[in-house]
Amino acid sequence: LATTDTSVFEKIESEVRMYCRTFPVVFERAKGALLHTDDGRPFIDFFCGAGSLNYGHNHDAVKRRIIDYLADDGLMHGLDMHTVAKRDFLTRLTEVVLQPRGLDFKVQFTGPTGTDAVEAALKLARRATGRTGLTAFTGAYHGMSRGSLEVTGSRRARRAGTVAGGDVTFVPFEDGPLGPFDSIGLIERLWADPSSGTEPPAAVVVESVQMEGGVYPASREWLRRLREVTERHGVLLILDEIQTGCGRTGAFFGFEESGIVPDIVTVSKSLSGYGLPLSLTLFRRELDLWQPGEHTGTFRGNQLAFVAATAACELWQQDDFLSGLQQGAERLARFRADAAALDPGLVVRGRGMVLGVDTAGAGGAERAERVQRHAFERGLIVERCGRYDEVLKVMPPLTIEPGLLDDGLGILLDALQAN
Ligand code: PMP
Repeated sequence: LATTDTSVFEKIESEVRMYCRTFPVVFERAKGALLHTDDGRPFIDFFCGAGSLNYGHNHDAVKRRIIDYLADDGLMHGLDMHTVAKRDFLTRLTEVVLQPRGLDFKVQFTGPTGTDAVEAALKLARRATGRTGLTAFTGAYHGMSRGSLEVTGSRRARRAGTVAGGDVTFVPFEDGPLGPFDSIGLIERLWADPSSGTEPPAAVVVESVQMEGGVYPASREWLRRLREVTERHGVLLILDEIQTGCGRTGAFFGFEESGIVPDIVTVSKSLSGYGLPLSLTLFRRELDLWQPGEHTGTFRGNQLAFVAATAACELWQQDDFLSGLQQGAERLARFRADAAALDPGLVVRGRGMVLGVDTAGAGGAERAERVQRHAFERGLIVERCGRYDEVLKVMPPLTIEPGLLDDGLGILLDALQAN
């Protein structure tokens, strides 16, 4: 094959659905925050596999563990069996992630994808409450299959799945794509009023930062109020931490700094630390209602993903990882000021290691696309999100070297200036 020749893919595209038009090169290798094309051209990665590579590509400590496990003929599939890989992962998850945060959750292996975790969460909430209703937020993204699509806001995505609407009520996110709105006040009035035509639902499902929706962080106070109101009305609170989790917001979970304890939490994407598929639903012990056989699946809990995830959890015990994460977040915070100084029409939101550069009031999606292309031509991969793809999503690896982070942010700033 000719190097970085995408023509073979163009031919294949007549037969296979593909969506890689934004980045028309062929990638071959990756390390840390850098992707390399097949002719050796480096790109800084501010996309991170949609948040599934928070620890960077081929992290040495995680890779070592995987190689050793394979070399030892470690068990590759162990459904319904006690295995060493499963034991070690659950031990580390509890010791390093859950216990230090005061979270006394049970763990349900839900399958390879985030969507699997969301489906399990919705199913469990309905089983536990005996109710079918759900409340979700405009701009939310929770997945593309039946139940998860019912709580996903995007009209385009819903139409593709012919979602009839289900028993789901959507309310505006706190300060989301529709602007400021007292959604919790609305929810509460409807739930309390016997003539509102609505009942308190089984659960409210929410992201601590709406990521696909355009990087809208929920404030600490808002999440606390949501927790308080759901508790008072006997409604379960599901935090979808699939994209915000594993350090993206600066803490392991995005909801952490609000101090709330959700009833159910979904985790996936970066959990394995290596891009290997793995998802979990965590829930309060009282919700441990399913009997054996009531929530099954052949590929729940991949052994190699457990091995990788164990090593990834251990990074949270390492001072250099934690200080690097903090420095990265500080650097992103400084970029907000740089972008505002460059163009006061841009709105830059974010938390920890994610920023959304919102062009809605400064050129919109067309400008965002030009900026994205300009950045790509100069060696930076950045994706777009939001209702109209008007928000540039800055999502570097948590482990990115300061110099590369500066380079990437510099390319983005230049691209914003030139477009
Ligand atoms: N929830 C959130 C918040 C997500 O960002 C995503 C993926 N973008 C999902 C659920 C679905 O995860 P998956 O694509 O692994 O099914």
